[in-house]
Amino acid sequence: MNILVINAGSSSLKYQLFNMKDESVCAKGRVERIGMETAILIHEPAGKAEVHEVSEILEHTTAIRKVLEKLVHPVEGVLASIKEIDAVGHRVVHGGESFKSSVLVDANVKQEIKRLFDLAPLHNPAHMLGIMAVDANMPGVPQAVVFDTAFHQTMPAPAYLYPVPMALYRKHKVRRYGFHGTSHKYVSERAATFLGRPLEELKLVTCHIGNGASCAAVQGGQSVDTSMGMTPLEGLMMGTRSGDLDPAIVPYVMGKEDLTLGEVSSMLNKHSGLQAISGISSDMREIVEALESGDKNAQLAFNMYEYRLRKYIGAYAAAMNGVDAIVFTAGVGENSELLRKTICEGLTFLGVEFDEAANRTGRGLDRRISKVGSRVEVLVIPTNEEWMIARDTYALVIGNRA
Ligand code: AMP
Repeated sequence: MNILVINAGSSSLKYQLFNMKDESVCAKGRVERIGMETAILIHEPAGKAEVHEVSEILEHTTAIRKVLEKLVHPVEGVLASIKEIDAVGHRVVHGGESFKSSVLVDANVKQEIKRLFDLAPLHNPAHMLGIMAVDANMPGVPQAVVFDTAFHQTMPAPAYLYPVPMALYRKHKVRRYGFHGTSHKYVSERAATFLGRPLEELKLVTCHIGNGASCAAVQGGQSVDTSMGMTPLEGLMMGTRSGDLDPAIVPYVMGKEDLTLGEVSSMLNKHSGLQAISGISSDMREIVEALESGDKNAQLAFNMYEYRLRKYIGAYAAAMNGVDAIVFTAGVGENSELLRKTICEGLTFLGVEFDEAANRTGRGLDRRISKVGSRVEVLVIPTNEEWMIARDTYALVIGNRA
């Protein structure tokens, strides 16, 4: 069975085609600048040369059509016919309280995703365009949706409610939802396999540290708390996002700088975090390079980033009354030796014994970077959200056929 995984954004679309029999990726790629005459399709068929093609792609239906044409192309393709795609799985950022797990798409599901547009105005409408584009190009092919929020729906009320008037929750669903759930779930399962222990017995702190960053307290395989909130702005310091701050700063800064609410929101989402403090970049690679050559602002940005993450790890150990393993994943978590080292060296009180040599080896593999016998294990596990989406889609389609 072949499953096409799609992550549709407003002007871009990423795809991966999985062969579920051997769990391999047959092809992957992306379309960028949808809506423009100079849109670009980058197609990477397994074992063949990468293809770059610039053409007019004004909307998502055309983008999907071009992707499908590439997948069955006599030279650049990997399939003989579109009919070989058995199902399509979509990443959807916000499932609100309606979706606690992945589901097959039907009219009701589409309706519900539309109802949630308010909660994720930048993301959910784009995902919907992806779903409609598949409808148009591949009528009758089953589609599933996998939500970033679903894994965190197990959080208990003390973790997901904000201490504000309850009417805001009742009327407008103001609460913590959390994001990156597919990744937190994936690395939790992999961590249990790696440790050779049942997930049900484990207390994990999973750190998805990429351009966006969040950590989660995962107890017995269930998310019991996570750092992102009603939106992906809360929690850790990120590339361009501030993470936690005193909400009173918003009206104060609006008054002092004569800014609109939209301008302050844009400042906190797009012009804060590593970028704002370093004045150099939102990219951790560039921050590390700069601090190594003595840049003080880069050093401060790194220190703040590390400090805030370490505080969350400590908080989640308290939330679960213990922690068996800390897991690092995503771009920074998988690649930044310095960040992992600095965090681990500040967690000796928890029982972390850091293995300096292990931290420097094994890139791309699931691995342990704590010493054997460390009371708290520290793991690096490369995330694979696309595979999780393919896996959930497969299970739903097979279940539906049974
Ligand atoms: P993601 O959002 O998971 O794709 O992560 C992207 C981020 O990972 C980039 O913005 C970089 O900050 C970070 N990153 C990637 N490679 C490295 C590296 N070798 N060292 C530090 N950070 C890295």
